[in-house]
Formats: sequence, C-alpha cells, structure tokens
Amino acid sequence: MTSKLEFARFPAPDGVNGWWESLPPPAPAVAVSSERRYDWVVVGGGITGLCAARRLAELAPDASIALVEADRIGRTTAGRNSGFFVDLPHDISSESYSRSVEADKADVRFQRHGIDYVRSVVKQHGIECDWRDDGKFHASVNRKGHGALAHFAEGLERIEESFEWLDAAAIAKVTGTDFYEGALFTPGCSTVQPAALMRGLAASLPGNVQVFELSAVTRIEDQGLSKVLTFAGGKIVAKRVILCTNAYAATFGGHPNGLLPVYTFASMTRVMKPEEVQRLGGTRSWALIPADPMGSTVRRLITDRICVRNHFAFRPNLEVSPADLAKAKSLHQRSFDRRFPMLKDVELEYTWGGPLCLSANNGALFGRRADGVFEAVGCNGLGLSRGSASGKLIAEYALGQSSDLVRQLLNQPHPRSLPVRPIADVAVSAAIWVKEFSAGAEL
Ligand SMILES: Cc1cc2nc3c(=O)[nH]c(=O)nc-3n(C[C@H](O)[C@H](O)[C@H](O)COP(=O)(O)OP(=O)(O)OC[C@H]3O[C@@H](n4cnc5c(N)ncnc54)[C@H](O)[C@@H]3O)c2cc1C
Repeated sequence: MTSKLEFARFPAPDGVNGWWESLPPPAPAVAVSSERRYDWVVVGGGITGLCAARRLAELAPDASIALVEADRIGRTTAGRNSGFFVDLPHDISSESYSRSVEADKADVRFQRHGIDYVRSVVKQHGIECDWRDDGKFHASVNRKGHGALAHFAEGLERIEESFEWLDAAAIAKVTGTDFYEGALFTPGCSTVQPAALMRGLAASLPGNVQVFELSAVTRIEDQGLSKVLTFAGGKIVAKRVILCTNAYAATFGGHPNGLLPVYTFASMTRVMKPEEVQRLGGTRSWALIPADPMGSTVRRLITDRICVRNHFAFRPNLEVSPADLAKAKSLHQRSFDRRFPMLKDVELEYTWGGPLCLSANNGALFGRRADGVFEAVGCNGLGLSRGSASGKLIAEYALGQSSDLVRQLLNQPHPRSLPVRPIADVAVSAAIWVKEFSAGAEL
C-alpha cells in the first residue's frame, strides 16, 4: 500500500431495495463518532466482510475487531441480490456458465466451502432469512437456450455433478407459466432473503466484534505498526486492516486495477392477492436462472412476491442514474409480462441496482496488500458463495493459517488490467450490449 489509501467512491442510493424494505425497521445504527483503537478493522459489511469479521473473532477470541460499513448492513449489494448461493460453475462471461474441468472443480470446492460456513451460522443462531436448500432451475425458452443448457449439462457430467432434466410441462408445473420450453434442475444451490441474512449475520457476530454502520472510511494512512482510518465522525487506529469493499475497491488510488464495477438490477412485485396466487399456480417458492447468463433470473418468494433480475450496465463511477433505473424497470416489466400474462395487475413495487465487481479474466484480489493490510475483493458476480468463502479464508490467511483453499485463492489470477478510460468504458459497455442482445428471448 502506498502510505495513504484514499476512497474515491461511496455507496449511493441506487433505487429502493425491496428485500430491505420488506423487513421490519432495523435497530438504530452505531456510527464511528470518536477515536477508537482495535486490533483489527474489517472494512465493508457485505457478505465478505461479515464472514471475515466472524472468522477473525472465532479464531482470535481475545482480539478486538471493528467491522465498518458505509451504509446499513443488508441495504447494500450483499442485501440487494437475488439470493442464490450457487455451488456449481457459474462463469457469467461464458455462454453456458462452465469453464475447464479443473477450473470448474476448483470453483465448486471454493463455493461449497462458503455455503457450508454460512449455512452452519444460520442454523446455529436460528437466523430467520428463509434459507432454503431447494436447488435451482436453469430454464431455457428456445432451442438456443436448450443448446446452452445441454452444454452446461456436459460440463456437469465432466465434473460428476448431478442434475435432472425437466420438459416444458414439468417446469410449468413448478413455475405456473408455460414460458419455458424446459429446464435443468441442480440440487445443491441454496437461496435466501439476502437483506435478512446480512442483518442476521451482523446481529449474531461474536462479542469481540463491534459493528459500525453509516461509517464510510474516507482514508487509510499507514503509520507503520498502526493504520489510521478516517471517518466523517472520528478515527479508528488499528494494527491490521482487511478490505472487503468489492466494487468500491476499483477506485482506490484513482488508477485502473482491472476491477470492473458492473451494475445489475432487480425488481420485486407487491404481495400477490390470494386469487392472483391461485391464477398463477405452480409451487409456492422456486428459484430460476436463465439458460443464457445475460437473461432473466426469477424467484417466486414464500411471501407471495416475485423478484426479477436482468440487465447489466458498466458504471465505473459507481452510481446509477434515474434513467438507468427507469430502463431497468421497463426491462423487468417486459420480462415479467412475457412470463406471467395471467398477472397483468401485479405491479413491480421496488426497483434497484447494485454493483458487481467483475474482471476481464475472472480474476480477483485475495491476500496481503501491504504490511498489515489484507484484501478479499472481486466477486465476479457470485459474491454470496464466493464472498462467504473468501471472507472466511482471508481471516484465516491473515492469522497465518494456510490450507488448500487459501493456496487456491492466492494462486488465482489477478484481475487483468484494461486499456485506459474512455477506451475501456466503450469496450466493456459494447461487450455487455452484444451479450444482452444475443440473450434475446431469455431476457
Ligand atoms: C440485483 C443483483 C442480483 C444479484 N444476485 C446474486 C445472486 O443471486 N447470487 C450471488 O452470489 N450474487 C449475486 N449478486 C452479486 C452479489 O450481491 C455480490 O457478489 C456480493 O454482494 C459481493 O459481496 P461483498 O461483500 O464482496 O461486496 P458488497 O456486497 O459490495 O459489500 C461491500 C461493502 O463495502 C461497503 N463499503 C464500500 N466502501 C466503503 C467505505 N469506504 N467504508 C465503509 N464501507 C464501504 C459497501 O457499502 C458494501 O456494503 C447480485 C447482485 C445484484 C446487484
């Protein structure tokens, strides 16, 4: 680390997060408001930071640990997603989610490690977040999509993972719509209400973790054995820091580091009335991923709402405009109408966006950034399972532990740097546009 790390961008209110809004009001936030000292500070209260702080506390019960979050825990990206804890290969830059056998197996090992860790915490603390081990459906709408699923199935066979094919009638029985021509079911995926999970993870942290919210770090100064973190309301002096700021790390120091803040968007309907639920049919809760990674993810929730996610936008300044949100909402409405013509009167109540942290080569940052400064950054679109694992493992690594998984993460490629802006902006946006266009009916 240079002797100073300046934070250039902070979480902005990117629409209204339906998961958060449908929870009871949160407990009041405690913000940094004076000067304090801790052994460790974890920056970023998403899934990665929550798992890093927990694991540090488990392994070092005598250490004092602060977890600092710029917004409210559960309101930002980790509480804004579609809630899939995906265990299987899920490379969203590939046309069928798969990579090579070796890379796919490594991903599965890594992702299951994260899922198992969070599931055990949810069970131990009885966190109410609608955790379900019900698997997911990959559904296709045409022959092209079916081809992509067949390719994905071949990838699964190569790594000896189980799956099951459903024909059009079988997937319609689950979803209530005849929109899909078939699907592939994979059993290992878990799903959650993400905002409830993040809140529950924060509320159940061990006693040696102090959580600060509405506390954005604006600068970290390296003063040798101490790191000084500055906030609007005070300072924290710590011996060691772990950075878990995902897309926000793309702006550190103001120079490109290969991390790409790409937004994706979701909308959630209002609660359906009993007669609407009946009209829809299908099962009470299901989770569906499109055959083409650029298509629409859809979940039916036990709360009788439906959540639709699609559309990507490269936003290197980490904010979206009202026009971005309006465009996303109209795409969601179109996707909803195509799938659920029987639910014409069911409005989309909430629409929001959140930044993923992608890279051109699926690389991520894991390990030591400087003396006493560690980082686990770069979700590549699958932060729930990967962030859970990398948060846990960065804490283990920072405490001097090693394991096959730590070595796997240390050896993964770093994000490949891109040409300077504005060339990178045009190239990334054009690549997204082409992929979205080719997703066609899957959207
Ligand atoms: C609509 C949508 C759907 C998605 N669906 C899925 C899905 O189904 N499954 C899946 O695995 N992933 C999904 N994702 C991606 C997933 O949400 C991310 O991969 C995940 O949130 C990454 O977790 P993280 O903790 O690494 O980063 P984040 O969740 O981005 O957390 C980083 C935290 O750092 C905080 N922060 C940043 N700067 C500062 C600062 N200066 N000071 C203090 N705090 C700071 C931020 O406020 C933020 O809370 C989706 C994302 C979106 C937007």
